[in-house]
Amino acid sequence: MDDREAIRGEEAPDEWQPVEGMRIVPAETLFEGGLASFPDYWEHEQVLYCEDEASGLKSYLSIHSTVLGPCLGGCRMFPYASDREALTDALRLSLAMSYKHAVVDIAHGGAKAVIIGDPRTDKTPELFRAFGRFVDALGGAYITGEDLGTSIEDVRIIGETTSYIAGLPLEDGGSGDPSSVTAYGVFCAIQASIAYTRGNPYNPKAGLPDIAVAVQGLGHVGWSVAEHLHAAGARLIVCDIDAAKVARAQEELGAEAVGVDEIYDVEADVFAPCALGGVLNADTVARLRTPIVAGSADNQLADERVPRMLQVMGILYAPDYVANGGGVINVSYEGEGYSVEKALQHTEHIGRTLIEIFHTAEREGMTTAAVADRMAGERLAPRH
Ligand code: NAD
Repeated sequence: MDDREAIRGEEAPDEWQPVEGMRIVPAETLFEGGLASFPDYWEHEQVLYCEDEASGLKSYLSIHSTVLGPCLGGCRMFPYASDREALTDALRLSLAMSYKHAVVDIAHGGAKAVIIGDPRTDKTPELFRAFGRFVDALGGAYITGEDLGTSIEDVRIIGETTSYIAGLPLEDGGSGDPSSVTAYGVFCAIQASIAYTRGNPYNPKAGLPDIAVAVQGLGHVGWSVAEHLHAAGARLIVCDIDAAKVARAQEELGAEAVGVDEIYDVEADVFAPCALGGVLNADTVARLRTPIVAGSADNQLADERVPRMLQVMGILYAPDYVANGGGVINVSYEGEGYSVEKALQHTEHIGRTLIEIFHTAEREGMTTAAVADRMAGERLAPRH
C-alpha cells in the first residue's frame, strides 16, 4: 500500500445501491496499477465506473471529498480517446471543484462525472435517464448538473430518474444562470485587490472613479463585470472576438476598444481575464502593465511557474477559482429557500477571503495561488 492508499483508507465508502441491468464498479479495478497510476489521483474518496448496455452509457464519476458535504459537480460529455483520458479528466476536475468549494466556504464537496461520447451524435434520452439512475444509486453523495457537452435540457432528462440535480432555471425550481453572481464575485475580487494595494479597507460598495480596468471577453460574466465597474465609476478598456459586443460596450458603457491581442499591453489598474483559460503565460505576463490580475476565466495560469512570475513582477494575482466562486455559491443556495440576495451576500465574502490570502502571501513570501491551495487543503483535511 503506498502513501495515497493509506490516506484514502481501506474502508473507503462503497455506498452505492446496485441498479438492475447496470454495472457499477470501483474504477481502481479497471486499470493496471489501480488509481495510484494516475498522476491526478490524490485522496479521492470514491471513484466509480458505470456501464449500461441498453443505453450505451459509459461514465466515470470521481467524488473527491465529502468532508464539507454532498458533492456538487457537473456532468461532462466528451469523445475521450481512451478510458484513461476520461478518468484523468474526472479526477482533475473533481479535485479543482473541492478546492473551489472549500475556499469560498460552501457546504459541498467536489465531484465530476464524465460520459464518454460525442455530444453532437451520441446523446439520447435513454443515455441521460441511465446516467440519472447511476447518480441516484449514490443516494445524494453526488449532485450533478450541466457542464461542457451537456445542456440544461440534458439535465432535465437526468432529472427524470434522480432528484440529485442542480442548476435548472429559476422557473423549474433551480438557481438559474449563475453568470451574474459570478460577475459580482469578480467585481468584489477587483474591489478587494484595489483596497489591498492601496491600504484601504475592503468595501464592495466603494466607488472606483479613478480606476481603469482592462476586461478581456464580454460574454455572460465579462459583460456583467463591466456593467458593475461602469456603475462604480471605473474606466473600461475592452476586447472581444465578437465585434458587436465591443461596439455595445463602447456605446453603453463608454468603453475604449482594443484588439484581442492588444489587451495584454494596456496600461491600467487591473487586467480582468473573463474569456479563456491559459491566458497567463511567460509571454503575456511579461507584457502586462497592470498591478492586479483578477477575472472570471477558469484555469488562467498556463503553467505552475506563472504565479511566481507574477509575484516577482509585483503583480497581485487574485486566484481564479476564488475570484470566480460566485457561480458555485449561487448553486449552493438552490432549494426551497433560494434567494439571489443571500447568494450575493455570501459572494461578497470572496473579497474578505482574498484579503486574507494576500496578507498571508506577503507575510510568508508565498504566491497567492499557493496560499489559496493551502487554505483549501486545510479546510478539506478530514475532521477526526
Ligand atoms: P461566455 O462564452 O458567455 O463568454 C466568453 C466571451 O469571451 C465571449 O464573448 C467570447 O466571444 C469571448 N472571447 C472568446 N475568445 C476570446 C479572445 N481570444 N479574446 C477576447 N474575447 C474572447 O462565457 P462566460 O460564461 O462569460 O464565462 C467566461 C469565463 O469565466 C470562462 O472561462 C468560464 O469558464 C469562466 N467561468 C464562468 C462562470 C459562469 O458563471 N458563467 C463561472 C465560473 C467561471
